[in-house]
Amino acid sequence: MANLAIDSIKERTFDAIVIGSGASGSWAAKEFTEKGLKTLLLERGRNVEHVKDYPTTNLYPYEFEHRLEMPYEDKQKNPIANRCYNYREDSKHFFVKDDEHPYIQVKDFDWIRGYQVGGKSLLWARQVQRWSDFDFEGPARDGFSVDWPIRYKDIAPWYSYVERFVGVSGNNDGIPELPDGEHLPAFPLNAVEDHFSKSVAKHYKNRHVISARCAHLSKPNPIHIEQGRVQCQNRVLCQRGCPFGGYYSANAVTIPWAQKTGNLTLRPHSVVHSILYDETKGKATGVKVIDANTKEEMEFFAKVIFVNASALNTNLILLNSISNRFPQGLGNDNGLMGKYVAFHNYTATIGAEYDGLLQYRTDGRNPAGGGYIPRFRNVYRQETDFLRGWAAGFGAGRAEIRDTSGVGSALKEGMLNAKLGTWRVHSHMMAETIPKEENFVSLDADQKDAWGIPLLRISIDYDENDRKMRQDYYEQMTEMYEKAGFTNIQTRDDNRRPGNDIHEMGGVRMGHDPKTSLLNKWHQLHACQNVFVTDGACMTSTSTQNPTLTYMAFTARAANYAIDEMKKGNL
Ligand SMILES: Cc1cc2nc3c(=O)[nH]c(=O)nc-3n(C[C@H](O)[C@H](O)[C@H](O)COP(=O)(O)OP(=O)(O)OC[C@H]3O[C@@H](n4cnc5c(N)ncnc54)[C@H](O)[C@@H]3O)c2cc1C
Ligand code: SF4
Repeated sequence: MANLAIDSIKERTFDAIVIGSGASGSWAAKEFTEKGLKTLLLERGRNVEHVKDYPTTNLYPYEFEHRLEMPYEDKQKNPIANRCYNYREDSKHFFVKDDEHPYIQVKDFDWIRGYQVGGKSLLWARQVQRWSDFDFEGPARDGFSVDWPIRYKDIAPWYSYVERFVGVSGNNDGIPELPDGEHLPAFPLNAVEDHFSKSVAKHYKNRHVISARCAHLSKPNPIHIEQGRVQCQNRVLCQRGCPFGGYYSANAVTIPWAQKTGNLTLRPHSVVHSILYDETKGKATGVKVIDANTKEEMEFFAKVIFVNASALNTNLILLNSISNRFPQGLGNDNGLMGKYVAFHNYTATIGAEYDGLLQYRTDGRNPAGGGYIPRFRNVYRQETDFLRGWAAGFGAGRAEIRDTSGVGSALKEGMLNAKLGTWRVHSHMMAETIPKEENFVSLDADQKDAWGIPLLRISIDYDENDRKMRQDYYEQMTEMYEKAGFTNIQTRDDNRRPGNDIHEMGGVRMGHDPKTSLLNKWHQLHACQNVFVTDGACMTSTSTQNPTLTYMAFTARAANYAIDEMKKGNL
């Protein structure tokens, strides 16, 4: 009996445990397994195997029961998921439904989640930009949050490392606030996007409209072919899962790579309840897992634990990891865990029309979505009465107008002979928000989920800084549109609730000082150094850039540091 128990403990002991198999966790798994570490990758959701588990990927619109629209009953049942633009009939199986995994909204918050192997990397819009020192130095310069313990030079080689592996299309635009990278050819701007880019360059010194950078294989390199991927076919059906591996997802890229090493144990249906802490050893020893289906409790052990459950779930797991030493959550000596949560502010859009360049049309699709306007406000000096700034997306297209007024052959004629409308242009704001103590998540004292884990309470809201920034976006974009000759300009507050931008960050922030932060510059909990956090929870501030490239680069850097420390016997 005793021997059986020992064998069983041996079987449940690994070199490294990674919690969460999404964009960031799968990178930790790749790094560990490639370097020979026996690694357990724990995932609460079901397995999703590349290609095999993309059931809608080759369906035509008419093959969907509701022609890709969401039916009324679904909208009633899942209002939160339905507010995400990407929750559609072809992708809904990759989203958490509202009633499956409840949480408590102290203030309105749309928590968009994907609980499956691959996490939200199956659903993301693939926009990737590097951060610069204008971001890493931001809190210290502008007096908010705490100083980042790293700078651009620390992470730059890891951005390159990740970009080369995942494949990122984009130009090198020579803009200091948006560093260049290891790029595959960019998806070009169309005629009106290009016109806007040239107009902005003519009228403004430090404003740019560039081709959006995105994690697509515009021209694969040998490493991508070795991964079993081929060139993106511009289908723009990415949210269904891409059988070509045309964009980066954990399912298509990092997980199969880790599996090929023979060192990975991937365990779906494994809900991590908490991290186990051994007071005598002064370190974490493993994790407590609840089987999602049978509710059986299990323990797994390892020298190093990476927490990559996505920002808010990482907060939840750590807050729920209670011991005598850490009664408020693992590593939470200063009581700041769960606080200073921030996100992005995508509440504003601006549309217009353009009646020039009518000799051009758009054919085919651009998976990058069009143009990107990097942040230009308050970059080199404080020039407004709000802190930080906003970036924006920009796109242009011509609608096909079909006359459906007739019947019989007239209808057929009208349908077959589409006319092109004038150009319509569109932009959406992507603004930085300021992390604040009063924006927090915590555990509910009474209510638990189906696996006996406390429900997360979320209390996060926009503030005056966000509203001022939105007004600035309207004013500046209107001016830029007018200079480009766009007409019928319409601004719109889309009234989205916090969370709907799906870039939640913070709660376990990095910093120099254990009194004011939770993680050191290598992403180790100050107070429990064999536990690393490299997903959005670690973010000290939010920048305007999309965050996932930075999570992946942070993860690769921290995993390689952990490997070196293990070799030295320090972990
Ligand atoms: C529609 C949409 C568009 C987006 N567009 C962009 C974009 O253009 N650019 C960009 O940078 N980002 C974008 N994002 C955000 C991006 O998807 C996330 O930043 C990224 O996936 C985060 O990676 P992660 O590893 O932290 O989390 P995820 O990819 O969400 O993975 C976390 C995993 O952890 C698992 N997990 C959670 N709790 C537990 C537990 N207790 N036990 C075990 N496993 C657990 C989850 O099931 C999940 O599989 C978008 C997201 C969505 C939904
Ligand atoms: S656009 Fe590219 S990445 Fe997206 S589904 Fe099509 S081939 Fe795949």
